[in-house]
Amino acid sequence: MNNFLPTAYFRKQFVPFEDANISIATHALHYGTGAFGGLRGLPDPADPNQILLFRLDRHAARLSSSAKLLNYDLPADKIQMTIEEFVRKNQPQQPFYIRPFVYTSDLGIAPRLHNIEKDFMVYGIPLGDYLSPDGVTCRISSWARQEDRSLPLRGKISGAYITSSLAKTEAVESGFDEAILLNSQGKVSEASGMNIFLVRDGKLISPGFDQDILEGITRDSVLTIARDLGIPIVERPVDKSEMFIADELFLSGTAAKVTPIKQVEIYHLPKERPITDKIRETLTAVTENREPKYQDWVFKVRLD
Ligand code: PMP
Repeated sequence: MNNFLPTAYFRKQFVPFEDANISIATHALHYGTGAFGGLRGLPDPADPNQILLFRLDRHAARLSSSAKLLNYDLPADKIQMTIEEFVRKNQPQQPFYIRPFVYTSDLGIAPRLHNIEKDFMVYGIPLGDYLSPDGVTCRISSWARQEDRSLPLRGKISGAYITSSLAKTEAVESGFDEAILLNSQGKVSEASGMNIFLVRDGKLISPGFDQDILEGITRDSVLTIARDLGIPIVERPVDKSEMFIADELFLSGTAAKVTPIKQVEIYHLPKERPITDKIRETLTAVTENREPKYQDWVFKVRLD
């Protein structure tokens, strides 16, 4: 059982987490008609009265887009202000993860997104590493990543996570740590909750937006950091066999940060990972506000 940050935002107000409860008849629970965000924060190592939130504006914008896809008008600045207030109310003392969520809160039956009450809520948990920073083993899932013609992949739509859940459990129950999903064209798409990168011949390769990926904010940060480090970047379709012979492979995500992959199916990756290590170190420094160049990625919330 996780422990939670003490205060949640629920039905337009801040309440103790224990009091933020929904009915068993809640529409979204039955139809997956919700969408969520996920962002990390930590107390500023240089100032205990300040909390650092990584790319709050991008996370708020993505959730606002997800809400729009669910027929819910929720401006990004409203999301951003609520999250800032959520942090001030909770005063977290250790690294944490914030889960903002929009959902159909009505108690009616019948799948739809019109004529239905919706709500926006926020809660948080303390969170250290989600995957082992030493590297994970991956299985290629028998489940394919969905296509945009059946579900809007630009949003983090709750219902879509049935595929992630099936894939993750299939991987773990068969002895692997994580799942990599191919898209309906048989090309590499992403992992259960992370984007994927390969390094081949000094180039950083990642499946692009046309490969049914989530538009990951960590992925965008990794690409920018790599470009600034002078590493050539290629966004293109990737075949599964390219992963087996890659020089380096890693996952990126808010929860996973940059996590190296040490094995895919029966194929082991080299133990030396100079590019992954460099990008991971830089990203860590950025999130801790130690890289002046990326200062505007780090939102500061004063606690005093
Ligand atoms: N893909 C999926 C399916 C995800 O759930 C996530 C986590 N939000 C990601 C990729 C990575 O996105 P981000 O870097 O914005 O956390």
